[in-house]
Amino acid sequence: MDVWNTQKSSALYNIDNWGAGYFKINDRGTVQVNPSRDPDLGSVDLKELVDDLIERGSRTPILVRFPNIVQSRIRDLASAFHKSISEYQYGGNYRGVYPIKVNQQRFLVEEIVRYGAETNLGLEAGSKPELLVALALMDNPEALLICNGFKDEEYIETALLAQKLGRNIIIVIDRYSEIDLVIEAARNLNIKPRIGFRAKLESRGSGKWVESSGINSKFGLSARELVTGLEHLEREGFLTSLELLHFHIGSQITALRSIKESLVEASRIFAELYHMGAKNLHYLDVGGGLGVDYDGSQTNWENSINYSLQEYANDVIYQVMNICDQKKVPHPHIVTEAGRALVAYHSVLVFDILGIHDPKCSEEPIETDYQSHDLLKKLFQEYQDLGAKNFNESVQDVFKMRDDSTSLFSLGFLNLKQRALIERLFQAYCTKAYKLAKAFKKRTPEMDSIEQFLRVSYYSNFSLFQSAPDTWAVDQLFPIMPIHRLGEEPSERGIILDLTCDSDGKVDQFIDVHDVKNSLELHKLKDGEPYYVGMFLLGAYQEILGDLHNLFGDTDSVHVSVTPSGYQIDHVVEGDSVNEVLGYLEYDRLSLLRRLRESAEKALEKGHLTKSESRLLLRHYEEAIAGYTYLEKGGVESSLRPVESLRRIGREREVVVEQKAE
Ligand code: PLP
Repeated sequence: MDVWNTQKSSALYNIDNWGAGYFKINDRGTVQVNPSRDPDLGSVDLKELVDDLIERGSRTPILVRFPNIVQSRIRDLASAFHKSISEYQYGGNYRGVYPIKVNQQRFLVEEIVRYGAETNLGLEAGSKPELLVALALMDNPEALLICNGFKDEEYIETALLAQKLGRNIIIVIDRYSEIDLVIEAARNLNIKPRIGFRAKLESRGSGKWVESSGINSKFGLSARELVTGLEHLEREGFLTSLELLHFHIGSQITALRSIKESLVEASRIFAELYHMGAKNLHYLDVGGGLGVDYDGSQTNWENSINYSLQEYANDVIYQVMNICDQKKVPHPHIVTEAGRALVAYHSVLVFDILGIHDPKCSEEPIETDYQSHDLLKKLFQEYQDLGAKNFNESVQDVFKMRDDSTSLFSLGFLNLKQRALIERLFQAYCTKAYKLAKAFKKRTPEMDSIEQFLRVSYYSNFSLFQSAPDTWAVDQLFPIMPIHRLGEEPSERGIILDLTCDSDGKVDQFIDVHDVKNSLELHKLKDGEPYYVGMFLLGAYQEILGDLHNLFGDTDSVHVSVTPSGYQIDHVVEGDSVNEVLGYLEYDRLSLLRRLRESAEKALEKGHLTKSESRLLLRHYEEAIAGYTYLEKGGVESSLRPVESLRRIGREREVVVEQKAE
């Protein structure tokens, strides 16, 4: 018999492909994180890190962030462009901007600004609040600040005035009506605006976010609006303000072909506008959309991408250069607004499994138990007769009998005890069928039905709606796997059920090398030992789209820097307490407590409750209201409890700058 090993786990979970060098399985059978992709620059054992964090008082679920991964992505993207520019002898420069909307967490944006300084990475704001963040955090005069999104007078005036602070700021006209708003504000303030036009391209993206492109997309100027807009600027004396042409064809573009098509169209528009008189047009902003290979398949399937960073950069530079050369237009500086590709890899949610439900049945059914109804007798016969030769037909019949049993029960022809017997026999039948099918060479739909029925439910301590909402909203697949015990064969096939009481709060589709699988290989739980599962590549969009379904709030999160000699915990951000979550919905802790006390007093008076029961109830209530919204084991008092109540965003529980030697 083959012995299981960590290589088999690597192949099973495909970690070497989606992990992109940042995540691997080590010889100890745990996930190793290499934030710089160079083991000499330091790496960390994720299981050891989680154990250490828990010892320090953090709680699961916990979001672990690795800012060095963001640093590595920023460098890789810029160097891919610098390499193409020098290889093609392209005449313009490269300027990246990070769209804050992708993940606005303060510590992360600060880290991005700090790490981005070496490549002059700028920021993109898609709204007024994001502009306010960008203005305060970005002070590199070389880095661009791109203003997108819906704008009002205040937004535009703030952006114009910020030019005087030395910010390298460009206001992108997303809707035609914004042109006059900008002109008016510029005249009022006597500041020359720096303007970009966002073009609505006909070329469409590919993948889930395809609606961001095409003629019906929400933002951008049509060909007619681009032409009249340019003429309008000229008439008003603002033609030299037009510096940038922008387009965005959607997030997670899966196919290089779609990128090529949009680049050709946008470059033609750029060249035409230039020849129509926009001689100061010198930036081409190719938007976001650079994808992430979530399943590691390197295909143009929606959870993957069929190109590398370098191929993306080469394509952008080559296509723009080609058209500009044909049209005799100076090569523009290239701006990218890649967000997902910069931050998706940097965070991992680690959650613990609270328990399982295993529908397999190890008991042998006894014939005498199944004599009280014809259906029971027939089902028992099927159980006994099941074999390789009649497998498919028998499975079909038995699934039909199961459906019939539900109808018979509803019509009153089966009692509850008989229904329970059918349930047990059905489980025994499926268990027998599953064992038989293991020896079959060819897969059949009947085998799939059996496997699907026998999937083990892993009850997990997290909320899908809070931590990975795209799983539910757009069927996004994130890599999920245990972070330890990877030297042991995972004997179970399970699905992940979250803590919410919503039937959609589950993961039952998982990445596979060439496909999607409807169960995940997981281990049997061991008594008294936690079982930790990681959900990876969650750094883009998930946190801010997460919601408070069932009042599960933000999880604890930590920022961990990895150094050659160990790791350092830079920030610990406390997750929401029940009290904070209730506060967002206008509940007041004291008035809730007062009401409960009044009810307890009344119950005491009537003798329904003893004094000690009342004390216990009130204590539980108070403790629960101060506690984590997720399940906590034994109410462990944390050594890092917040000293005071802090606000939701940017709360820093404690900055521990501690070096942990490996
Ligand atoms: N720029 C604009 C205008 C966007 O709307 C978006 C998001 O969809 C982005 C950039 C970031 O896209 P991505 O995260 O796919 O790179």
